[in-house]
Amino acid sequence: MNPDTLEPIRTQFSSYHPYTKNKLTAKPTILHPMAAEDQSAKTNADNAPSGLHEPAITASPIETEKTSTKTAAKKSKTTASKVNNGSSASKISEKLAKLGLRKDMDFVLHLPMRYEDETEIVNMRDASFRGGSSVQVEGIVSECDIQYRPRRQLVVTIADDTGQVVLRFLNFYGNQTKQMAVGIRIRARGELRHGFFGAEMVHPHYKVVNEGAPLPTALTPVYPSGEGLPQALLRKAIVNAMTRVHCHDTLSPARLSALGLQDFESSIRILHNPPSEVDQYSLIEREHPAWERMKFDELLAQQLSLKRAQISRRSKGANALPLVGELSNAFLLNLPFSLTKAQEKVLAEIRADLREAFPMQRLLQGDVGSGKTIVAALAAAQAIDNGFQAALMAPTEILAEQHFRKIAAWLEPLGVKTAWLTGSLKKKEKDAANALITSGEAQLVIGTHALIQDSVQFKKLGLVIVDEQHRFGVSQRLNLANKTEAGKVPHQLMMSATPIPRTLAMTYYADLEVSVIDELPPGRTPIVTRVIDQNRRDEVIARVQAAGQEGKQVYWVCPLIEESETLQLQTATDTHAMLAEALPELRVGLVHGRLKPAEKQATMEAFIRNESQVLVATTVIEVGVDVPNASLMVIEHAERFGLSQLHQLRGRVGRGAAASACLLLYQGPLGGTAKQRLATMRESNDGFEIARKDLELRGPGEFLGARQSGEAMLRFANLETDQWLVEKARNLADDLLKNDPATVIAHLERWLGYKEEFLRV
Ligand code: ADP
Ligand code: MG
Repeated sequence: MNPDTLEPIRTQFSSYHPYTKNKLTAKPTILHPMAAEDQSAKTNADNAPSGLHEPAITASPIETEKTSTKTAAKKSKTTASKVNNGSSASKISEKLAKLGLRKDMDFVLHLPMRYEDETEIVNMRDASFRGGSSVQVEGIVSECDIQYRPRRQLVVTIADDTGQVVLRFLNFYGNQTKQMAVGIRIRARGELRHGFFGAEMVHPHYKVVNEGAPLPTALTPVYPSGEGLPQALLRKAIVNAMTRVHCHDTLSPARLSALGLQDFESSIRILHNPPSEVDQYSLIEREHPAWERMKFDELLAQQLSLKRAQISRRSKGANALPLVGELSNAFLLNLPFSLTKAQEKVLAEIRADLREAFPMQRLLQGDVGSGKTIVAALAAAQAIDNGFQAALMAPTEILAEQHFRKIAAWLEPLGVKTAWLTGSLKKKEKDAANALITSGEAQLVIGTHALIQDSVQFKKLGLVIVDEQHRFGVSQRLNLANKTEAGKVPHQLMMSATPIPRTLAMTYYADLEVSVIDELPPGRTPIVTRVIDQNRRDEVIARVQAAGQEGKQVYWVCPLIEESETLQLQTATDTHAMLAEALPELRVGLVHGRLKPAEKQATMEAFIRNESQVLVATTVIEVGVDVPNASLMVIEHAERFGLSQLHQLRGRVGRGAAASACLLLYQGPLGGTAKQRLATMRESNDGFEIARKDLELRGPGEFLGARQSGEAMLRFANLETDQWLVEKARNLADDLLKNDPATVIAHLERWLGYKEEFLRV
C-alpha cells in the first residue's frame, strides 16, 4: 500500500510553510525583500548587512525579519554573482523546488506573505509626525560619516525641502560611504524614530535614485523565499508562470455565486499584483475576497484529498469481524463495573465498523481516565472471537507494559493467549514472541513500535489498536496496517487522550471516523488543582507526608529540562534523595527514562503494589500510567510544561474514589502565557476545554505537536479565524465527490501540484 494513498494531505504541504504568521516553531530563513532585490539591481545600494544588535529594533515583528538579513545578504551575494552560469540555474531550480515550486501552477499559487507600501514619498516634516509605522522619504545626502561613539557606525544625513533625517547603519560595507556620498539622492524606507540627533531611521532600506524616479503605483508583494532566492527572481518567475498557465476556474460560476466567492483568475491577479485602488488593509490582513478564495480552494483540496483517501480505503477489503462471541460476552460479565453510557456508545460504533468488510479507521477520543482501555480490549476480544489476531501498540514501554499487565489480567483467565514484544527484549525472547505471532498462537499481541518491524509476521491480523496515536508518525501506523494478507487491510482503532477541538478534527481527521467518550466513570471526585510558589516547598512536602500516612500514594514529577537530559536526570535523582531523607517513614521510588526496562518495571510494580508510597518521576509517566490509589500529584516547575502535558500528567491521579489533588509548583516571575496556562489548569478539569485553550495559546501548528504540524500545516487558511470556510469547503467536497468527479480531479491537480502520485489512487 502506498502511504500517500492513505494520508495524502498531511504530507502535502510538508516542506515549507512560510505563510502562517508567527505560528512556526522553526522559522524558515526569509530573505529580506529589499536586501534580496538589490542584488540584481545595480543602482541599489542595499546589499549592506543590516544591524542586528540594536536592542531597540529587535522587538518589533517587522524588525525580527532583519535578523536573517545578515547571513542572507552575505550568502545571496555569492549566489548573485553566479546567477548566470548553468550549474547555478539547476541550483536555483533546486531551491525553488524546496519551496514546492516546480510546475507553473505552483508558482502561480506561491502567494505573497505580506506587502510593502512604496507607493508614496512623505516629506520629512510630515514623516516625523508619523510615529511607529514605516514611511518612505527621499532627499539629498548632506553628510556622510563614520562615527565611533558609542560604537562604529555609518551615519548619513539626508534632507529635503522640509527637514532632514539621519540614517544610521551599525553594520555596513566600506563602499557605502561612496554610494551615499554628499550630493547623492537617496530614497529610504523604514521606521522613523526620534533619536538624539532628531528624526532617524536605523537600518532603513534605501536606494540611490535619480530625481523624479517613478514610484510603484501599487503595494509591492513580498514572497516567502529561501536563501539564495532573491525577491526579484521569484517575482519574475511568478510573472512568467502567469503568462504561461491558463487560470481557468475549477468551480462553476453558479457554485461560486452560491458560495459567495470571487473567481480564481481575478483573485490571483489581485494578490500578485494589487491594483492601486485595492483595499490595502484587507489585503494585508488577508481578509480580502481574493484571499478568501485562495483559502477556500486550499481547504477544499484538503477536504477532497482526505475524503478520497477514505473512499479509497473503503474500497479495499478487510476481514469482516461480525461475531460478538463468547469471549466478548464473558469479558463484559467479568468486569467489576458496568460500562458508562459513553463507553457503550463508542463500543457500539466500533462493533458496527468491525462487522464491515472494509477497514475501520476510527479515532477514539476520550479525556484521560475516561476508560478507553476497556473499549480497546473489547474491540480486541471481538477480533479474537472471529478467529483473528489483534495487536495493540503503545508509544512507550511503560505504557505498553501497563496495557499488557491490565489486558492480560482481563483476558488470559478467559483463555486468550497473549504475546509481548518490545525493542528491549532479549533476542531469545523476541524470537519466541515472533514464533507465537507468526504461528497465530498469540491471539493478542501488545508492544511498542517493535511490532511494526518487518521481521514481525502475523498469521491473521484482524485489528490494530494504536494508543496515543498522536505520538506515532503516520508512516509508523501505516506500517502496522500493512501487516496482513495481500489486498486486505486490518481494521484500525486509534486512541487519543489529547482531545482535538472540532475545527481541527474536521480538517485533519476528515478521513477518520471519530468516537468520543464524553463522560468519566462514576464515583470520581474532581481533582482539586492548586498553583503554589515553590518557596513553599516545605508545606508541600508536609502535605505529601500527610497523604502517605493516610495510606495514599503520591507522584512527584520533576521538571522538564529541555536543554539537557543529563540535568533532568540529575534533578530527578536529587529530588529523590531529598524526599527520601525528608520522609523517612515512607518508601520513595524513582523512575526515569534512563533506567533499564527491568528496573523501570520493578519500580513501577512496587508502586502499583503500594510498596512504595511516593514515586519521583520524570515525564516518562506522562501517558497512560494507571494506579488508582495515587491521589496526590506534585509537579515541579509547572510553568515549563505545556497545557496538554500538564493535563496528561494530572490525569494520573483522580482515578480512584479518593479525592485527589494536584499541586503545581512554579518559580516566578511568570510570563503571560505561563500564567494563563496555570490558571487554566486551576480552573478546568475538562480535557476539551483545556485543549481549546491550548489551541488558542499556541496556534494549530504547535498544538498538533512538532511531528504533526509539518504534516498538517495549511499555507493560507487559518483554522482559528477561517472556520466558516472550513465548513463550506467540507460541504462542497461531499457534493463534488458525489456529483462532479471532473471538478474533483481538476481541483486536486491544481492544488496538489507535484503530488501527482496521489492522483493515481
Ligand atoms: P484512559 O481513557 O485514560 O486510557 P483507562 O482506560 O486507563 O483510561 O481507565 C481509567 C480507570 O478507570 C481505570 O482504572 C479503569 O479500570 C477505570 N474504568 C474504566 N471504565 C470504567 C467504568 N465504566 N466504571 C468504573 N471504572 C472504570
Ligand atoms: Mg490510556
